[in-house]
Amino acid sequence: MSESDHNTTGACACGAITYKAEQVAPVWYCHCQQCRRMTGHFMAASQVALDKIEITGEPKWYYVNQRSRYGFCPDCGSQMFWRNDENNYMSLTAGCMDNTAGLSDRGHIFVSEKGDYYDIPADQMQSEYWEEPAE
Ligand SMILES: [Zn+2]
Ligand SMILES: [Zn+2]
Repeated sequence: MSESDHNTTGACACGAITYKAEQVAPVWYCHCQQCRRMTGHFMAASQVALDKIEITGEPKWYYVNQRSRYGFCPDCGSQMFWRNDENNYMSLTAGCMDNTAGLSDRGHIFVSEKGDYYDIPADQMQSEYWEEPAE
C-alpha cells in the first residue's frame, strides 16, 4: 500500500465503533460484486497499515471467503472496514472518516463487475483487477 501524511479519526453512524488512523492512503473505488452487495453501491475505501490504526469497540466481521472479511458496526450496520488476513494493512471506508480534507483518490478497480446504472468518468483510472498502487 502507499502511505500519505493523511491522519483521521472515524466513526460509525451510532458511535459504538470509532478509530484513529495515521498515514491513510488515497481512496480506491471497488466495483466488485461483493463490495456492491456489502455497501449497497460500490466501495470507496482507503488503506492503512495495521500498526497505524487503533479501533475502539467491537466491529462484526463477515468473511466472504477464507481470507477476506468486511467489518461493520453490529448496532447500526455502518460498513467500515475490509481486510485480507494475509495483508499487513486494511481498508477503511471513506464515508466513516471524520477528516477527508486533502485526501485524494486513485481510481476504480474491478470495473467489469460494476452496475449498469452508472458510468465511471472517462478521465479516471480504471482496472479490471486490484492493482497495488505504484509507490
Ligand atoms: Zn454503529
Ligand atoms: Zn470489492
